[in-house]
Amino acid sequence: MIIKPRIRGFICTTAHPVGCAAHVNEQIAYVRSKGPIASDIKKVLVIGSSGGYGLSSRIVAGFGCGAATLGVSFEKVPRENKTGTAGWYNNIAYEQAARGAGLYAVTLDGDAFSDEMKDRVVETTRAGMGKIDLVIYSLASPVRQHPKTGKLHRSAIKPLGEAVQMKSLHVEKGEVHQVDLEPADEEETANTVAVMGGEDWEFWIEALKDADVLADGFRTLAFTYIGSDLTWPIYWHATLGKAKEDLDRAAGVISASLADLNGEARVAVLKAVVTQASSAIPVVPLYASLLFRVMKDKGLHEEVVQHIQRLFATQLASGVTQRLDDQGRIRMDDIELTDEIQGEVRRRWPLVDTENLEELADLEGFRRDFLKIFGFGFASVDYEEDLDPTLGRDV
Ligand code: NAD
Repeated sequence: MIIKPRIRGFICTTAHPVGCAAHVNEQIAYVRSKGPIASDIKKVLVIGSSGGYGLSSRIVAGFGCGAATLGVSFEKVPRENKTGTAGWYNNIAYEQAARGAGLYAVTLDGDAFSDEMKDRVVETTRAGMGKIDLVIYSLASPVRQHPKTGKLHRSAIKPLGEAVQMKSLHVEKGEVHQVDLEPADEEETANTVAVMGGEDWEFWIEALKDADVLADGFRTLAFTYIGSDLTWPIYWHATLGKAKEDLDRAAGVISASLADLNGEARVAVLKAVVTQASSAIPVVPLYASLLFRVMKDKGLHEEVVQHIQRLFATQLASGVTQRLDDQGRIRMDDIELTDEIQGEVRRRWPLVDTENLEELADLEGFRRDFLKIFGFGFASVDYEEDLDPTLGRDV
Protein backbone atom coordinates (compact mmCIF):
# COMPACT_ATOMS: atom_id res chain seq x y z
CA MET A 1 0.00 0.00 0.00
CA ILE A 2 1.27 3.48 -0.87
CA ILE A 3 0.32 5.66 2.07
CA LYS A 4 -0.59 9.32 1.60
CA PRO A 5 -2.20 11.73 4.04
CA ARG A 6 -5.97 11.74 3.87
CA ILE A 7 -7.20 14.73 5.80
CA ARG A 8 -10.81 15.04 6.93
CA GLY A 9 -11.35 18.29 8.77
CA PHE A 10 -9.09 18.24 11.79
CA ILE A 11 -8.01 14.62 11.53
CA CYS A 12 -5.89 12.62 9.16
CA THR A 13 -7.35 9.16 8.64
CA THR A 14 -4.08 7.58 7.48
CA ALA A 15 -0.72 7.26 9.21
CA HIS A 16 2.65 6.37 7.77
CA PRO A 17 4.48 3.59 9.66
CA VAL A 18 7.98 4.64 8.62
CA GLY A 19 7.18 8.31 9.13
CA CYS A 20 5.77 7.69 12.61
CA ALA A 21 8.97 5.83 13.49
CA ALA A 22 10.97 8.77 12.12
CA HIS A 23 8.93 11.10 14.35
CA VAL A 24 9.61 9.00 17.45
CA ASN A 25 13.29 8.64 16.60
CA GLU A 26 13.65 12.38 15.94
CA GLN A 27 12.34 13.02 19.46
CA ILE A 28 14.64 10.39 20.95
CA ALA A 29 17.61 12.01 19.18
CA TYR A 30 16.66 15.39 20.65
CA VAL A 31 16.38 13.99 24.18
CA ARG A 32 19.72 12.22 23.83
CA SER A 33 21.32 15.43 22.56
CA LYS A 34 20.32 17.15 25.81
CA GLY A 35 22.10 14.52 27.91
CA PRO A 36 20.86 12.52 30.88
CA ILE A 37 18.50 14.06 33.44
CA ALA A 38 19.63 13.37 36.99
CA SER A 39 16.56 12.06 38.76
CA ASP A 40 15.14 9.20 40.77
CA ILE A 41 12.45 8.62 38.14
CA LYS A 42 13.06 5.01 37.16
CA LYS A 43 9.66 3.38 36.65
CA VAL A 44 7.05 5.36 34.83
CA LEU A 45 3.48 4.74 33.77
CA VAL A 46 2.26 7.00 30.98
CA ILE A 47 -1.50 7.01 30.47
CA GLY A 48 -2.06 8.35 26.95
CA SER A 49 1.42 7.40 25.80
CA SER A 50 0.99 7.14 22.05
CA GLY A 51 0.92 10.73 20.90
CA GLY A 52 1.38 14.38 21.78
CA TYR A 53 2.51 15.22 25.29
CA GLY A 54 2.20 11.63 26.56
CA LEU A 55 4.49 10.20 23.89
CA SER A 56 7.09 12.90 24.51
CA SER A 57 6.84 12.24 28.25
CA ARG A 58 7.53 8.58 27.65
CA ILE A 59 10.51 9.44 25.45
CA VAL A 60 11.98 11.86 27.98
CA ALA A 61 11.38 9.41 30.86
CA GLY A 62 13.06 6.61 28.91
CA PHE A 63 15.85 8.32 27.07
CA GLY A 64 16.39 11.26 29.44
CA CYS A 65 15.95 9.58 32.83
CA GLY A 66 16.77 6.00 31.78
CA ALA A 67 13.39 4.88 33.11
CA ALA A 68 11.43 1.71 32.42
CA THR A 69 8.10 2.75 30.91
CA LEU A 70 4.68 1.22 30.74
CA GLY A 71 2.41 2.95 28.24
CA VAL A 72 -1.36 2.88 27.91
CA SER A 73 -3.18 4.08 24.82
CA PHE A 74 -6.21 3.32 22.69
CA GLU A 75 -5.45 2.48 19.06
CA LYS A 76 -6.98 1.24 15.86
CA VAL A 77 -5.01 -1.69 14.52
CA PRO A 78 -4.10 -1.69 10.83
CA ARG A 79 -5.55 -4.01 8.20
CA GLU A 80 -3.94 -5.19 5.00
CA ASN A 81 -5.31 -2.20 3.10
CA LYS A 82 -5.92 0.27 5.92
CA THR A 83 -3.37 1.94 8.15
CA GLY A 84 -3.52 1.79 11.91
CA THR A 85 -3.58 4.94 14.01
CA ALA A 86 -0.37 6.92 14.30
CA GLY A 87 -0.26 5.86 17.94
CA TRP A 88 -0.16 2.18 16.97
CA TYR A 89 3.00 2.81 14.96
CA ASN A 90 4.46 5.19 17.57
CA ASN A 91 4.09 2.57 20.30
CA ILE A 92 5.95 -0.01 18.21
CA ALA A 93 8.66 2.47 17.27
CA TYR A 94 9.14 3.48 20.90
CA GLU A 95 9.30 -0.11 22.12
CA GLN A 96 11.83 -1.03 19.46
CA ALA A 97 14.08 1.92 20.20
CA ALA A 98 13.80 1.51 23.97
CA ARG A 99 14.49 -2.21 23.96
CA GLY A 100 17.41 -1.55 21.59
CA ALA A 101 18.78 0.79 24.24
CA GLY A 102 18.24 -1.79 27.00
CA LEU A 103 15.19 -0.04 28.47
CA TYR A 104 12.08 -1.86 29.62
CA ALA A 105 9.10 -0.78 27.51
CA VAL A 106 5.65 -2.36 27.42
CA THR A 107 2.50 -0.84 25.95
CA LEU A 108 -1.06 -1.86 26.71
CA ASP A 109 -3.67 -1.02 24.09
CA GLY A 110 -7.21 -0.48 25.34
CA ASP A 111 -9.56 1.86 27.16
CA ALA A 112 -7.75 3.65 29.98
CA PHE A 113 -11.07 4.64 31.53
CA SER A 114 -11.98 1.00 32.16
CA ASP A 115 -11.37 -0.99 35.35
CA GLU A 116 -10.01 -3.76 33.15
CA MET A 117 -7.13 -1.61 31.91
CA LYS A 118 -6.27 -0.63 35.47
CA ASP A 119 -6.13 -4.33 36.37
CA ARG A 120 -3.91 -5.05 33.36
CA VAL A 121 -1.51 -2.32 34.42
CA VAL A 122 -1.36 -3.69 37.97
CA GLU A 123 -0.63 -7.17 36.64
CA THR A 124 2.05 -5.91 34.27
CA THR A 125 3.66 -3.87 37.00
CA ARG A 126 3.77 -6.87 39.30
CA ALA A 127 4.94 -9.22 36.57
CA GLY A 128 7.73 -7.11 35.19
CA MET A 129 8.26 -3.43 35.81
CA GLY A 130 8.08 -3.17 39.56
CA LYS A 131 6.75 -0.33 41.70
CA ILE A 132 5.95 2.88 39.84
CA ASP A 133 7.53 6.18 40.87
CA LEU A 134 5.86 8.46 38.35
CA VAL A 135 2.46 8.39 36.62
CA ILE A 136 1.93 10.83 33.78
CA TYR A 137 -1.77 11.29 33.09
CA SER A 138 -2.02 12.60 29.52
CA LEU A 139 -5.35 11.44 28.15
CA ALA A 140 -7.26 13.51 25.63
CA SER A 141 -10.48 11.88 24.58
CA PRO A 142 -13.90 12.96 23.33
CA VAL A 143 -15.70 10.11 25.14
CA ARG A 144 -15.53 8.11 28.35
CA GLN A 145 -17.53 5.13 29.34
CA HIS A 146 -17.87 5.41 33.07
CA PRO A 147 -16.54 2.24 34.69
CA LYS A 148 -19.06 2.23 37.54
CA THR A 149 -22.28 3.37 35.84
CA GLY A 150 -21.58 2.19 32.29
CA LYS A 151 -22.79 5.58 31.02
CA LEU A 152 -21.11 6.92 27.89
CA HIS A 153 -20.14 10.56 28.44
CA ARG A 154 -19.36 12.74 25.43
CA SER A 155 -17.45 15.95 25.90
CA ALA A 156 -18.62 19.16 24.28
CA ILE A 157 -16.16 21.89 23.38
CA LYS A 158 -18.40 24.88 23.98
CA PRO A 159 -18.48 28.23 25.77
CA LEU A 160 -20.41 28.74 28.97
CA GLY A 161 -23.20 31.22 29.53
CA GLU A 162 -23.71 33.01 26.23
CA ALA A 163 -23.04 32.24 22.58
CA VAL A 164 -19.80 33.74 21.36
CA GLN A 165 -18.53 34.66 17.95
CA MET A 166 -14.82 34.24 17.52
CA LYS A 167 -12.15 34.26 14.88
CA SER A 168 -10.95 30.83 13.90
CA LEU A 169 -8.86 29.16 11.23
CA HIS A 170 -9.76 26.51 8.71
CA VAL A 171 -6.35 24.86 8.64
CA GLU A 172 -6.86 22.84 5.46
CA LYS A 173 -8.29 25.74 3.43
CA GLY A 174 -6.03 28.33 5.04
CA GLU A 175 -8.99 30.59 5.75
CA VAL A 176 -9.64 32.86 8.67
CA HIS A 177 -13.34 33.02 9.46
CA GLN A 178 -15.77 33.75 12.26
CA VAL A 179 -17.30 30.85 14.13
CA ASP A 180 -20.51 30.97 16.12
CA LEU A 181 -20.10 28.97 19.26
CA GLU A 182 -23.30 28.04 21.06
CA PRO A 183 -23.06 27.70 24.82
CA ALA A 184 -23.13 24.35 26.57
CA ASP A 185 -26.02 23.39 28.77
CA GLU A 186 -25.47 21.95 32.24
CA GLU A 187 -25.50 18.36 31.05
CA GLU A 188 -22.90 19.01 28.34
CA THR A 189 -20.68 20.73 30.87
CA ALA A 190 -21.04 17.85 33.34
CA ASN A 191 -20.27 15.37 30.57
CA THR A 192 -17.11 17.24 29.60
CA VAL A 193 -15.98 17.21 33.22
CA ALA A 194 -16.75 13.49 33.35
CA VAL A 195 -14.53 12.87 30.32
CA MET A 196 -11.65 15.30 30.78
CA GLY A 197 -11.83 16.07 34.51
CA GLY A 198 -10.00 14.45 37.37
CA GLU A 199 -12.20 11.50 38.36
CA ASP A 200 -10.43 8.95 36.18
CA TRP A 201 -7.03 10.21 37.37
CA GLU A 202 -8.25 9.60 40.94
CA PHE A 203 -9.52 6.13 40.00
CA TRP A 204 -6.12 5.30 38.52
CA ILE A 205 -4.09 6.31 41.53
CA GLU A 206 -6.55 4.68 43.93
CA ALA A 207 -6.36 1.39 41.98
CA LEU A 208 -2.56 1.46 41.84
CA LYS A 209 -2.24 2.37 45.50
CA ASP A 210 -4.71 -0.30 46.61
CA ALA A 211 -2.70 -2.84 44.63
CA ASP A 212 0.47 -1.65 46.38
CA VAL A 213 2.35 -0.93 43.16
CA LEU A 214 3.37 2.64 43.97
CA ALA A 215 6.88 3.33 45.25
CA ASP A 216 7.70 5.52 48.23
CA GLY A 217 8.06 9.14 47.09
CA PHE A 218 5.65 8.43 44.22
CA ARG A 219 4.59 11.38 42.08
CA THR A 220 1.86 11.90 39.52
CA LEU A 221 1.29 14.68 37.02
CA ALA A 222 -1.76 15.54 34.92
CA PHE A 223 -1.51 18.05 32.11
CA THR A 224 -3.61 21.13 31.68
CA TYR A 225 -3.81 24.20 29.50
CA ILE A 226 -4.78 27.69 30.60
CA GLY A 227 -3.47 29.96 27.86
CA SER A 228 -4.36 33.62 27.55
CA ASP A 229 -7.67 35.49 27.49
CA LEU A 230 -7.64 35.27 23.68
CA THR A 231 -8.76 31.65 23.89
CA TRP A 232 -10.53 31.73 27.25
CA PRO A 233 -14.08 31.99 25.79
CA ILE A 234 -13.58 28.51 24.23
CA TYR A 235 -11.06 27.06 26.64
CA TRP A 236 -10.39 28.17 30.18
CA HIS A 237 -13.78 29.84 30.72
CA ALA A 238 -15.56 27.12 28.78
CA THR A 239 -16.48 23.45 29.20
CA LEU A 240 -12.87 22.31 28.86
CA GLY A 241 -11.77 24.80 31.50
CA LYS A 242 -14.36 23.37 33.88
CA ALA A 243 -12.91 19.91 33.27
CA LYS A 244 -9.40 21.24 33.83
CA GLU A 245 -10.51 22.96 37.06
CA ASP A 246 -11.64 19.54 38.19
CA LEU A 247 -8.08 18.27 37.69
CA ASP A 248 -6.97 20.90 40.23
CA ARG A 249 -9.52 19.52 42.68
CA ALA A 250 -8.40 15.96 42.01
CA ALA A 251 -4.74 16.87 42.53
CA GLY A 252 -5.56 17.89 46.10
CA VAL A 253 -7.54 14.73 46.82
CA ILE A 254 -4.87 12.48 45.31
CA SER A 255 -2.03 14.24 47.14
CA ALA A 256 -3.84 13.75 50.45
CA SER A 257 -4.25 10.06 49.67
CA LEU A 258 -0.52 9.71 49.02
CA ALA A 259 0.66 11.13 52.34
CA ASP A 260 1.76 7.74 53.69
CA LEU A 261 3.92 7.23 50.59
CA ASN A 262 5.39 10.74 50.83
CA GLY A 263 3.84 11.16 47.44
CA GLU A 264 2.25 14.06 45.61
CA ALA A 265 -0.01 14.83 42.68
CA ARG A 266 0.40 17.96 40.62
CA VAL A 267 -1.15 19.53 37.61
CA ALA A 268 1.37 20.84 35.07
CA VAL A 269 0.29 23.73 32.86
CA LEU A 270 1.78 23.23 29.41
CA LYS A 271 2.09 25.43 26.34
CA ALA A 272 -0.11 25.26 23.24
CA VAL A 273 1.26 22.79 20.68
CA VAL A 274 -0.16 20.96 17.67
CA THR A 275 -1.56 17.57 18.62
CA GLN A 276 -4.55 15.55 17.49
CA ALA A 277 -6.43 16.87 20.50
CA SER A 278 -5.59 20.57 20.15
CA SER A 279 -6.32 20.61 16.40
CA ALA A 280 -9.92 19.74 17.20
CA ILE A 281 -10.60 22.80 19.36
CA PRO A 282 -12.06 25.79 17.49
CA VAL A 283 -10.00 29.01 17.68
CA VAL A 284 -6.92 27.21 19.07
CA PRO A 285 -5.30 26.58 15.64
CA LEU A 286 -5.48 30.31 14.84
CA TYR A 287 -4.09 31.27 18.23
CA ALA A 288 -1.37 28.62 17.96
CA SER A 289 -0.37 29.71 14.45
CA LEU A 290 0.03 33.30 15.64
CA LEU A 291 1.82 32.17 18.77
CA PHE A 292 4.27 29.98 16.84
CA ARG A 293 5.16 32.82 14.45
CA VAL A 294 5.84 35.18 17.36
CA MET A 295 7.72 32.58 19.44
CA LYS A 296 9.78 31.42 16.46
CA ASP A 297 10.67 34.99 15.46
CA LYS A 298 11.89 35.60 19.01
CA GLY A 299 13.79 32.28 19.10
CA LEU A 300 11.59 31.04 21.97
CA HIS A 301 9.49 28.37 20.28
CA GLU A 302 9.42 24.86 21.72
CA GLU A 303 8.24 21.71 20.00
CA VAL A 304 6.34 19.12 22.06
CA VAL A 305 9.45 17.14 23.02
CA GLN A 306 11.49 20.25 23.80
CA HIS A 307 8.77 21.44 26.14
CA ILE A 308 8.56 18.10 27.95
CA GLN A 309 12.33 17.77 28.16
CA ARG A 310 12.34 21.17 29.91
CA LEU A 311 9.52 19.98 32.21
CA PHE A 312 11.52 16.97 33.34
CA ALA A 313 14.89 18.73 33.49
CA THR A 314 13.73 21.81 35.38
CA GLN A 315 10.70 20.61 37.38
CA LEU A 316 11.08 16.89 38.02
CA ALA A 317 14.84 16.31 38.20
CA SER A 318 16.58 15.81 41.53
CA GLY A 319 17.22 18.93 43.55
CA VAL A 320 15.20 21.37 41.45
CA THR A 321 12.95 24.06 42.88
CA GLN A 322 9.61 23.79 41.17
CA ARG A 323 7.98 26.83 39.64
CA LEU A 324 4.51 26.62 41.18
CA ASP A 325 1.56 28.98 41.02
CA ASP A 326 -0.76 29.80 43.90
CA GLN A 327 -2.81 26.68 43.12
CA GLY A 328 0.29 24.50 43.39
CA ARG A 329 0.41 23.86 39.63
CA ILE A 330 3.73 23.53 37.82
CA ARG A 331 3.88 26.37 35.29
CA MET A 332 5.52 25.45 32.01
CA ASP A 333 3.55 28.06 30.10
CA ASP A 334 5.85 30.76 31.49
CA ILE A 335 7.35 31.59 28.09
CA GLU A 336 4.05 31.50 26.19
CA LEU A 337 2.49 33.87 28.70
CA THR A 338 5.21 36.55 28.92
CA ASP A 339 3.99 40.07 28.17
CA GLU A 340 6.43 40.18 25.29
CA ILE A 341 4.86 37.16 23.55
CA GLN A 342 1.24 37.79 24.49
CA GLY A 343 1.51 41.49 23.67
CA GLU A 344 2.55 40.68 20.12
CA VAL A 345 -0.01 37.88 19.64
CA ARG A 346 -2.70 40.23 20.97
CA ARG A 347 -1.61 43.01 18.57
CA ARG A 348 -1.89 40.62 15.61
CA TRP A 349 -5.19 39.02 16.64
CA PRO A 350 -7.57 41.72 15.29
CA LEU A 351 -5.40 42.19 12.19
CA VAL A 352 -5.06 38.60 11.00
CA ASP A 353 -7.14 37.55 8.01
CA THR A 354 -6.94 35.02 5.18
CA GLU A 355 -4.77 37.34 3.05
CA ASN A 356 -2.09 38.12 5.64
CA LEU A 357 -2.14 34.77 7.42
CA GLU A 358 1.25 33.71 6.13
CA GLU A 359 2.83 36.99 7.13
CA LEU A 360 1.34 37.33 10.63
CA ALA A 361 0.96 33.66 11.56
CA ASP A 362 2.73 30.38 10.97
CA LEU A 363 0.12 28.37 9.11
CA GLU A 364 2.83 26.45 7.30
CA GLY A 365 4.46 25.45 10.60
CA PHE A 366 1.09 24.42 12.03
CA ARG A 367 0.35 22.28 8.96
CA ARG A 368 3.83 20.77 9.07
CA ASP A 369 3.44 19.83 12.74
CA PHE A 370 -0.02 18.41 12.04
CA LEU A 371 1.25 16.15 9.24
CA LYS A 372 4.20 15.02 11.36
CA ILE A 373 1.77 13.65 13.95
CA PHE A 374 0.70 11.13 11.29
CA GLY A 375 4.22 10.45 10.03
CA PHE A 376 4.14 12.68 6.96
CA GLY A 377 6.66 15.25 5.80
CA PHE A 378 9.92 13.58 6.84
CA ALA A 379 12.72 14.04 4.30
CA SER A 380 14.20 10.66 5.24
CA VAL A 381 11.03 8.75 4.31
CA ASP A 382 10.19 7.43 0.84
CA TYR A 383 6.49 8.14 0.58
CA GLU A 384 6.22 6.24 -2.72
CA GLU A 385 7.28 2.97 -1.12
CA ASP A 386 4.72 0.19 -1.20
CA LEU A 387 4.29 -0.87 2.43
CA ASP A 388 2.45 -3.47 4.43
CA PRO A 389 0.50 -1.31 6.93
CA THR A 390 0.36 -4.22 9.38
CA LEU A 391 4.18 -4.31 9.51
CA GLY A 392 3.84 -8.04 9.02
CA ARG A 393 2.18 -8.47 12.40
CA ASP A 394 -0.70 -10.70 13.12
CA VAL A 395 -3.43 -8.13 13.80
P1 NAD B 1 -3.11 13.65 22.00
O1 NAD B 1 -4.40 13.53 21.25
O2 NAD B 1 -1.89 13.89 21.21
O3 NAD B 1 -2.87 12.34 22.90
C1 NAD B 1 -3.89 11.75 23.65
C2 NAD B 1 -3.49 10.37 24.11
O4 NAD B 1 -4.57 9.82 24.86
C3 NAD B 1 -3.19 9.38 22.98
O5 NAD B 1 -2.11 8.55 23.34
C4 NAD B 1 -4.46 8.52 22.94
O6 NAD B 1 -4.25 7.19 22.46
C5 NAD B 1 -4.80 8.50 24.40
N1 NAD B 1 -6.20 8.14 24.65
C6 NAD B 1 -7.32 8.81 24.32
N2 NAD B 1 -8.41 8.16 24.77
C7 NAD B 1 -7.96 7.05 25.40
C8 NAD B 1 -8.58 5.98 26.08
N3 NAD B 1 -9.90 5.92 26.23
N4 NAD B 1 -7.79 5.00 26.59
C9 NAD B 1 -6.46 5.03 26.46
N5 NAD B 1 -5.80 6.03 25.84
C10 NAD B 1 -6.55 7.02 25.31
O7 NAD B 1 -3.38 14.79 23.08
P2 NAD B 1 -2.43 15.87 23.80
O8 NAD B 1 -2.68 17.19 23.17
O9 NAD B 1 -1.05 15.38 23.96
O10 NAD B 1 -3.15 15.94 25.22
C11 NAD B 1 -2.68 15.29 26.37
C12 NAD B 1 -2.96 16.15 27.58
O11 NAD B 1 -2.20 17.37 27.47
C13 NAD B 1 -4.43 16.58 27.69
O12 NAD B 1 -4.81 16.60 29.05
C14 NAD B 1 -4.41 18.00 27.16
O13 NAD B 1 -5.46 18.79 27.65
C15 NAD B 1 -3.05 18.46 27.69
N6 NAD B 1 -2.52 19.68 27.04
C16 NAD B 1 -2.45 19.75 25.67
C17 NAD B 1 -1.98 20.94 25.10
C18 NAD B 1 -1.90 21.09 23.59
O14 NAD B 1 -1.70 22.21 23.10
N7 NAD B 1 -2.02 20.01 22.84
C19 NAD B 1 -1.55 22.01 25.91
C20 NAD B 1 -1.58 21.86 27.29
C21 NAD B 1 -2.08 20.69 27.86
